[in-house]
Formats: sequence, structure tokens, C-alpha cells
Amino acid sequence: MSHVFQPGRIGTFRLPHRIVMGAMHLGLESKEDGGAALAEFYAERVRGGAGLIVTGGAAVNAAGAGGADYGVLTDPGFRSRLRRVAEVGGIFALQLFHAGSHGVGAVAPSAVRSKLTRSVARPMSVAEIEDTIAEFASGAAVAQRSGFSAVEVMGSEGYLIDQFLSPLTNHRSDSWGGDAVGRMKFGVEVVRAVRAAVDLPVIVRFTGADLMPGGVPAVEAARFATALVEAGADALNVGIGWHESPVPTVQALVPHGKWTSVAAEVARSVGVPVITGNRVNRISQAEEILAAGEVHLVSMSRPFLADPSLIARARDGHRSTVCVGCNQACIDRSLVGSEVSCMVNPRACRELEFPLARQRSPRRVAVVGGGPAGLQAALTSARSGSQVDLFEASAELGGQFRLARLVPGKADYGVVIEHLGAELRALGGRIHLDRPITADDLDLMRSYDRLVLATGVRPRPVSIPGASLPHVLSYASAFTSPLGPRVVVIGGGGIAVDLAHFASSAGHRVQILHRGKRIAPALGRSTRWVVLDALRRAGVGITGEVTFERISAQGVHFESASGTSELALADTVVIAAGQERCADLVEAVRAAGIDHRLVGGAHSASGLDAVRAFADGLTVTTSY
Ligand code: SF4
Repeated sequence: MSHVFQPGRIGTFRLPHRIVMGAMHLGLESKEDGGAALAEFYAERVRGGAGLIVTGGAAVNAAGAGGADYGVLTDPGFRSRLRRVAEVGGIFALQLFHAGSHGVGAVAPSAVRSKLTRSVARPMSVAEIEDTIAEFASGAAVAQRSGFSAVEVMGSEGYLIDQFLSPLTNHRSDSWGGDAVGRMKFGVEVVRAVRAAVDLPVIVRFTGADLMPGGVPAVEAARFATALVEAGADALNVGIGWHESPVPTVQALVPHGKWTSVAAEVARSVGVPVITGNRVNRISQAEEILAAGEVHLVSMSRPFLADPSLIARARDGHRSTVCVGCNQACIDRSLVGSEVSCMVNPRACRELEFPLARQRSPRRVAVVGGGPAGLQAALTSARSGSQVDLFEASAELGGQFRLARLVPGKADYGVVIEHLGAELRALGGRIHLDRPITADDLDLMRSYDRLVLATGVRPRPVSIPGASLPHVLSYASAFTSPLGPRVVVIGGGGIAVDLAHFASSAGHRVQILHRGKRIAPALGRSTRWVVLDALRRAGVGITGEVTFERISAQGVHFESASGTSELALADTVVIAAGQERCADLVEAVRAAGIDHRLVGGAHSASGLDAVRAFADGLTVTTSY
């Protein structure tokens, strides 16, 4: 890691290493707790070795807030919460933010419809434009007075500065639009005003490539980068894509490091440090990027949710758990105004609620089941000083993650399990593989101070005639069995979609049949369209609103929504129509009167996903 751990520099400002913790809206910014949770979230990352941290967007005025849970710099309560953040002792850049047409005030250069909020924006008057520029400057001054080390002007992702820059959203004919120079003017004037208002380094996050059909041409983006530097930017943080872009940028299917070449191109044309990011989830990848010598700093955001100590661990030569790019507990929540967390680290944003405290008198804890819920329960217990025995019936940890890691884009799910298992062992936890726990082991279970049952789920059988034919497989065995050339998947949830993705990527012709109107309705907003697009491109057929009649050696017979009888030809039929809890041990333990807690699928199979499984594992052990 010789490049990552070289000091960095922005202007005259020195950074301890070359990793920037990128801005994330957390949903804690408006929490009425005096800023305690927000400050503790950042404090834990500072303790974990984070260098420069860019805060989540601070709206420069009320209209620019991205939602009701955003902090607004004109609000004295938010300013006092920010002071508390600055006091935690890290190197913080306050991000100055205006969402434009996507904001609470829905204002924009022109009357365009926001694809995020579906409302049509009100065009800004010239006076409003000038006031907004002044508010960026006064927001920067607030940052300096509050003790921040730098500011970052948010000019990417399709927010207000981008909306002025793009011919798609700026239809003005006055000096704030008209041609490329006019469209650049707002962003340039914002940076000039911010530069004049403070003595701090000014970072500008700008869009290197908007990935919008008919958007800003590359040559204009390059001219804008130069103009931003001339206006006073000390560093450029290169964002990729707008929220509305039809090209995925940060989802799990996007290859790691995919966008660094865009930032490298920017770096060749400007004389200030350039920061790359968007799809980098390991310090080792950052090292490779920096070693290539094309950019100066690497920004990572979600990885700091997944592991607040990833810098300290890398310095000590340890691997971190990885962000798997699922977006389920972070981006998808922030899009609907919910508090952010992380699937693989459910403590994220709840650090005050679940402090890392050691018990005064350590307990002996047994956890049965080594899937996400069981592993999290075991780890949380071990971190608090308990002596943990984890019993897993199979030869490997991971539960449903062992299947998920086989799906395109989800290999990192396997890395998470490896890491959690390794951390548990390092904390003295004993992992007993190939050790099913049955009713014969009740005395052993009774001997522990605490018992957590995380026995998970199994595929739910269906009552379709022919479901026991030899070419019919459950989803669990389909992931590890030979499949015929034509595969029909029965089911319309996330597992059916994953299985179809897995089989189609291996060259099988796949059709999904499901009863509902909408396939995979529970998949997150930022991910669903990406996965469905990948299935479409792989030629996967999806037919909803079917009534199943029977399965035969030829395939699946069903009645379509229009009432016709049809046959989907299949060499292999896979049942992915839900899950049910594995309750045998639960019933035995209950009947024996042994005190216990249930987590994950053992608690309930209804609505189970990995986010809930991990969160169960955290909460049960701290309340038990
Ligand atoms: Fe990464 Fe998923 Fe955690 Fe978000 S919720 S930080 S995408 S692992």
C-alpha cells in the first residue's frame, strides 16, 4: 500500500493518505439530537483512520435540500450540529449542496421535469440565481467559522450546477444559458464566489461524464473542468453519471474501477489534484489506481459504511469487509428519506445505539447457524467479550450468501462471509462446521448462558402437479446442479431473478414464469432496473400473471393472463417460489424450555432479506 499511504495534498493542505471518504447523505443530518448521532458516525470513521472526510450535502438554502431530512445551512440547529461534527477532530470538508429540480423547492434553470420527484421545476429568476450563488458563498463561510478544514461544491449527479451546464435542462436564452459558455456560467460563478468567501481549500465535485443521451459533450465537460480551476477550485472530484442516467455507475454489476479512466482524462488537462471514485470498494484497488499515477486521490464512500476502520485495518495489513454494491441499506434508503445504514454493517449510523462496549462479566454464547444473521450475532457477542461457539450444519459458513456469491456481480458476498468468519476467529470465537445441532444436543445448548438460533430458511415447496419430477429442482440445488439448455424458473422474487441471471450468464436459455403483475417488486430502486436490463439483454423471458397448471417432461403448462393455455418448454424447471423457516430445532428448544432468541429466517421467513438478517444479528445480542 505504498501509494495509498503517501501523504496527499490539496493546495497547501496536507492529507495523511490518498483516500478521501466521499460524501454520503445519512439521514442523521436533521436528527433532533443536537448532532450526537451524526458526530459519532464521523468520529468512528476518524478513529478508524479516515483522512479527508467530505460530509453529506449541506443545502445552501431551503429550496436546495434534497428532502425533508437534509440539513439546511440557514438553519441555526443544523449549524450547531455541524460544529459538533467539526469538533470530533478529523479533517472535514463540508459539501455545499443544491438539488435544483430534485430539491424541496423544485427550482432549476428551466421548467424541466425531475425524473426523481416527477414534478416540473420552476425556472429561477436572475435575482434567484444571484442569491443562490451568494448562498453557496455564505455556506462556505459557515463551514470556515464552524471549524471545517475545506469545502466541496457539489456540482455532479445531475443537481443544480449540472442542470445549468446541460443542454437537456438549461433552455435559457439569457446570459445564464444560450450556449456552452452561458451554461457553464452558474457553476463557474459559484466556485468564484466560494473561493472569495473562504481561506479553505475548495474542492469541486463535477461530472466528468454525465452518461445522459444528448447531455454535455466530452469537449464541453473538459472546458468546464478548466474553467472551474481558473475560478478557484483547488481539486476536482470527478463524478460519473446523473441519477437519471440510463447507464449504471455504482451498482454491483458495474466492474470495479470502471470510471477511473474518465478522471485520468480530466487529470491530464488540469493542474490541480484530481480525485476518482464511484466504483472502488477495496484499498487494494485504490492502491492499483494510485500506482498507475494518473490521478492523485481516490474517493470511497460506501466502503466506509461497510467498515469504519478500513483505513486502519489496511495500515495494519488486515483485510476489511467489503461493500457489496447492493445499495439496499444506503442509497435506496436515502432516496426515500430513510436513515441510511449498511447491509453488512448494521451498526452504521447507529453507533450511539450500539456502542462497542465490553461486558463486565463475559458470557458463553452458542449460535446455531452460520448464515448472515448467525454470523452477525456471533460477531456482535464476540466483540463485546463473550466466548462464542458457532455451530454450522454444512461444511461452509454463509447460508444464502453461498448461493448469492455465484450470481453475476455478487462475488463480493463470498468475501464478506470470509471476512466475518476470519474476524470471529480472531476474536476467539470457535466455529464448528459440519456440526448440525439436533434435539439430541439440548443438554449442550442448555449449558450456555445465551442461545441464539439462526437456523435460516429452506425453499418452500409448491403444490403444482409434476413438481416432484426429476428435472424439477429447488433454487438451492439449481445453483450447484447441472442445468439443461432450456430452464424455466417458477417464481417472481429476488431469488428467481438471481437464479435466472446465474443460469443465463452460463449460456442457458431462461424463462421466468410468475404469478404477480410485477417481477421482483422488493428489489431496491437503484438496482432493480439494472438487473432487469441485464436479464433483458441476456434474452431472459419474463411472463407474469400466470396460473400454473402442471409440470410435465416437456416443461411448464400454464394459463396466461389472457386465458390461453401455454407450454414453456424446459429441460430443467427451477422452483424459486419463496422460503419457509427451518423450525425443527426451534420447536425442540422451545419444548425443552431453554431460553433462546431467534434471528433471521429462524425468526420469520416473511419479508426476509439480508439487510434484516444482519440487523437481527446485531440487535438480538445487544438486547439479550
Ligand atoms: Fe455497500 Fe450494500 Fe452496505 Fe450500501 S448497504 S454500503 S451498497 S454493502
